[in-house]
Amino acid sequence: MTPGVGIWRCVKCREGVFPQRLLCPRCHGDDFVPDRVYEAVVEEVSMIRHMLGQTDWQPRRIASVRTSNGPRITIGLRDESSPGTVIELFEEDTAPYGAARKPST
Ligand SMILES: [Zn+2]
Repeated sequence: MTPGVGIWRCVKCREGVFPQRLLCPRCHGDDFVPDRVYEAVVEEVSMIRHMLGQTDWQPRRIASVRTSNGPRITIGLRDESSPGTVIELFEEDTAPYGAARKPST
């Protein structure tokens, strides 16, 4: 598991994009550098109950999240977080996931 999710950041205006685009949606620059985001707020949660061609599919939750300093991305949700929850982002096998931040002790 790798902390954070890889995104691309415009060199010119620092806008974050994911997936990578040809041109920046804000300033139309074409220079991007890889960056990572570690935190996001859940905006919408959906459940995928079936997947074509998958016989042993387990229902899983995906969430549309707004990253703290980057774009809105879709991730696999690993817990019962609902909209408004601040979650931590991480990658497993390059796929983005998130789960509620553990309360600091
Ligand atoms: Zn830009």
